[in-house]
Amino acid sequence: MPNITQAMLEEALAYGRTFTSQGKTAQYIPYLRHVDRDLVGISVQTADGQRLSAGDAQTRFTVQSIAKVVALALALQDRGEKYLFSGRVGLEPTGDPFNSIIRLETDKKPYNPFINAGAIAVVGAIKGRTGTEKFERLFRFFEKLCGSKGISLCGEAYLSERETGDKNRALAYHLKATKMLEGDVGENLDVYFRMCSLYVTAEDIAHLALVLANRGVDPVTGERLMAAEHARIIRALMVTCGMYEGSGEFAVKVGFPSKSGVGGGIASAMLDRMGIGVFGPALDGRGNSVAGIAMLEYLAKAMDIRLF
Ligand code: GLU
Repeated sequence: MPNITQAMLEEALAYGRTFTSQGKTAQYIPYLRHVDRDLVGISVQTADGQRLSAGDAQTRFTVQSIAKVVALALALQDRGEKYLFSGRVGLEPTGDPFNSIIRLETDKKPYNPFINAGAIAVVGAIKGRTGTEKFERLFRFFEKLCGSKGISLCGEAYLSERETGDKNRALAYHLKATKMLEGDVGENLDVYFRMCSLYVTAEDIAHLALVLANRGVDPVTGERLMAAEHARIIRALMVTCGMYEGSGEFAVKVGFPSKSGVGGGIASAMLDRMGIGVFGPALDGRGNSVAGIAMLEYLAKAMDIRLF
């Protein structure tokens, strides 16, 4: 495998930029409608200590669905995989949109932790007497995984999420009615809205991906942040469900375990090698960053790495 170089990142960035006009920012969250769709950034952090960035890698954006990875890691740590996957959430892709409610009526248990219903059920399983306590635990864990003290809440995005979150409320109340959601519905939803509204950079999510790639250990501090088995489960779910209904096509095109968010970020974990964070708020019809996918595809080819 050729080593990753700054020149490769610059080339990937230039290639990614040519795609931004093909997408648009998420329209259903008012805050995201007004983000500049031409921003593009990429960051790579390797297990042996290389840190490279190009473009808007330090520009803040809201993490959105990538936070579902962090919530899942914490719930796994708190409750264990048996409890979580037998009673709260499944492990299967759906092919349905991220906020779909349709299968909850017939199957009760949300299909996987990366659709909204599954992520809300996962938030319910995180330990904490109140929503505030849960969120504080989640936030501290989030900072560690991103290797950053610079994470903050984007108040405007949070208000937008709350204002337009009725579909998520419907999912949460349905889960409560079928006994799939623990605790207070409003408090769990508030944790969910807050976690989606956290500000991160491509560098932050590259570090999160690096910890997943490095089997749960932060190679910078040497600290184990999650069990190796939990990192493995999460990487597997990223392959099957991480890119919404585009997960199959993405596996064919790129093949790195990845999780995207409608803020335009994608965190990509290459086992034992590196974490990649890409950012570009112009999205395709499935909610994935068009420039982000293009940059990952470019790097997969340039590094000649194919998982499959
Ligand atoms: N906050 C978003 C929602 O629940 C998350 C969307 C996403 O990134 O998939 O609508």
